[in-house]
Amino acid sequence: MNTVAAGSNHILIKSMIKKSGLDGIYQKIMDHQSLSFEDGLKLFESKDLSSVGFMANIVRERMHGNRSFFVRNRQLNPTNVCDYSCMFCSFYRREGEEGGYTMTMEEIAQRVRDGVKHGIQEIHITSGLHPGLPFSYYTDMLRTIKEVAPHLHIKGFTAVEIEYYAHHYNMSLRDVLTKLIEAGLEAMPGGGAEIFADRVRKKICDEKSTAEGWLAVHEIAHELGLMTNATLLYGHIETYEERVDHMLRLRDLQDKSKSKGSKGHFNTFIPLKYQHENNRLKNLPDVSAFEDLKMIAVPRLMLDNFPNIKAYWVVIGKRMAQMALSYGANEIEGTILEETIMSMAGTDSAQGMTEPELIKLIKDAGRQPIERDALYHVIKSYSDKDIEQALNPKAAIPILN
Ligand code: SF4
Repeated sequence: MNTVAAGSNHILIKSMIKKSGLDGIYQKIMDHQSLSFEDGLKLFESKDLSSVGFMANIVRERMHGNRSFFVRNRQLNPTNVCDYSCMFCSFYRREGEEGGYTMTMEEIAQRVRDGVKHGIQEIHITSGLHPGLPFSYYTDMLRTIKEVAPHLHIKGFTAVEIEYYAHHYNMSLRDVLTKLIEAGLEAMPGGGAEIFADRVRKKICDEKSTAEGWLAVHEIAHELGLMTNATLLYGHIETYEERVDHMLRLRDLQDKSKSKGSKGHFNTFIPLKYQHENNRLKNLPDVSAFEDLKMIAVPRLMLDNFPNIKAYWVVIGKRMAQMALSYGANEIEGTILEETIMSMAGTDSAQGMTEPELIKLIKDAGRQPIERDALYHVIKSYSDKDIEQALNPKAAIPILN
């Protein structure tokens, strides 16, 4: 596009933003100012998705340019036996109930070996809250993984799991985390946050930790040097106000951890769309694609102290995840190899995604694929030639005779 055309496009978009009443927000973004609760609400209520996405893309490109990350990872769900019964959950089983399982150390080791064969860099562990296991099951599991694959980065245990262990094994949160770190834990996922508002938690996950409990675990994890993620479960009974409140509480904790000089902090925010099958909230209407993209764009604008926004293809689908790269996301969830929790709730995630598939998805969105490690160090920045080779390995092998 020539400079005159680009300039007139920009003027056109600015006039669209003004027409939608979002010009005050646009100015704050251009001035690098944080947005307020009212701004967040206005963004969610706006029907002008193009303008909201345009502004989110400004922030995304300011932080990451054209780069779009992915990681070769494997999900591991060692047990689905759970003491709780969250209304949106299709994964849990009671102890002894049909369909319940708990992996042995050998089964865990086998999955790790299998993942290593696929070149994974990271393992992502989450489980049900099994009342019958000793705490040593978890430390043994971490040591087993490190024995099989010392290079593998272990991200594991939601804040809900950590809080449950503290209560169940009569330990402090800090002790639980310290012992898991000693056994090999290096980062924490962001699950279990759902929506922080008490009103919603009481209805959909009454037994789970409170917002304060979830945030306390992450604050301690940051102090102990762990990088952690954060999620928000949307598309059920939550309001826009409750979504914005959730993000602001995360933004405040990030500021707090950084101002205390904690070694760890939040790395990535991941919006999780509620999945309908096989759970007790299943009669709720599905949210629209419009809402999926808003849930990428608005967090990118509100969470200005979070480095990364991830499009989790497992819940929004591969095509929507690709679109998300133009609406504020700078990362697509990785290969995962196998996924249980969301596939039991009706997604087609059970088989994961291949690396060429991920690369093509990113390339076709006009972005540059970057394979990262668990701490967002670049493993490989894909040039056009690398992309061609990844997508068509046979054609790229030189013929020598
Ligand atoms: S969401 Fe987690 S805590 Fe709740 S029932 Fe499912 S496995 Fe258990």
